[in-house]
Amino acid sequence: MNKIELLAPAGDLEKLKWAIMYGADAVYLGGKKFSLRANATNFTIDEIKEGVKFAHEHNAKVYVTVNILFHEEDMTGLLEYLKELEDAKVDAIIVSDLFIIDLVKENNINLEIHISTQECTLNSEAVKFYKSEGVKRVVLARESSKKDIKNIMDETNMDIEVFVHGAMCTCYSGRCMLSNYMTNRDSNRGGCAQVCRWVFDLYDEYKTKISDVAEFAISPKDLSLLKYIPDLIDIGVTSLKIEGRMKSIYYIATLVSVYRRVIDKYLEDKENYKYNKKDEIELYRCANRETLPQYFDKFPGVNEQYYIGREENTNQDFLGVVLDYDEENKEIIIEQRNYFSKGDVINIFGPKKEPFNIVVSYIKNGDNELVDAARHPKEILRIPCYKKVSKNDLLRVNFLG
Ligand code: SF4
Repeated sequence: MNKIELLAPAGDLEKLKWAIMYGADAVYLGGKKFSLRANATNFTIDEIKEGVKFAHEHNAKVYVTVNILFHEEDMTGLLEYLKELEDAKVDAIIVSDLFIIDLVKENNINLEIHISTQECTLNSEAVKFYKSEGVKRVVLARESSKKDIKNIMDETNMDIEVFVHGAMCTCYSGRCMLSNYMTNRDSNRGGCAQVCRWVFDLYDEYKTKISDVAEFAISPKDLSLLKYIPDLIDIGVTSLKIEGRMKSIYYIATLVSVYRRVIDKYLEDKENYKYNKKDEIELYRCANRETLPQYFDKFPGVNEQYYIGREENTNQDFLGVVLDYDEENKEIIIEQRNYFSKGDVINIFGPKKEPFNIVVSYIKNGDNELVDAARHPKEILRIPCYKKVSKNDLLRVNFLG
């Protein structure tokens, strides 16, 4: 069976464990220095070691981003840090500034190198160059089309990683100065202020404000290639990457479990595989922005952008985390995350588990008293469940019918 890697974001140690539990083959994370996503919690070297140990025990890999563009002031401590990553037995580093390739070679540091999407690689000649330098894998720019990905695979026979889900930039990957210009926060050193999603006033060519446009933004909708997983597998890409190191555990668990299911179903029986719209609904409900294939199937146009502000919805779908299952009383013990009440139909999902529904015929609080609703965040409650569930399964609003 053709093995393809599902690669998930890990914003902290807890998210790393959840991503792997829910089916990721590998995770990527950033250390406290030299990594983009400065607002993610990011890992100390001891946390990286613990994450690598957990991942390797579960046959998963850990890649560490060292993908800022380095200014002179950023260089202090880099060599020592790379040696610490080697010592921590990380499976690869993801780099953007190319001098790191030489630095690793010259110092005989045993680290596999992946080229970050920040390098904006869009053609096979660039990939051949990286290959000749000893690079193991290239993460293509999110602006790659299916045709280009296939050509690059055919021309280079290189390990290729493709983004399948997450946020897009208005500018090409790694080529944006908006944040630097508007906020003095450097998007290529982890400081992006997401300026492209701000609301702007719009002026005509005579510098007159167009007053009938209430809000104007230049924010791209998010990327999802769920529908195209079979195409990517058949093209032969090595790794499918989910973006979002700052996302919640619920988001990561949902995305990883849906992509895992789709990949496995296609690999199990390619001929009879059918795209299931319900998988897409699951993804849509846990995200707060519309998703599209973006550059994969055509050049994006007006429909791939938000032009009237952020248009994001928060949702209250995440209802609770399973702490334990009481087999004798056929009850789940949960930690509540959002309101639900007696009589609701809720959905339960977990690692490598088909989601299923239950009716909440009663709710008991921590004193074993019956209550009509789960009102308090983090409250420990009991609800009936005919099927055995496992610790760390998740409860959500039933939106699957
Ligand atoms: S400002 Fe927008 S386009 Fe620029 S790096 Fe940030 S998210 Fe990307």
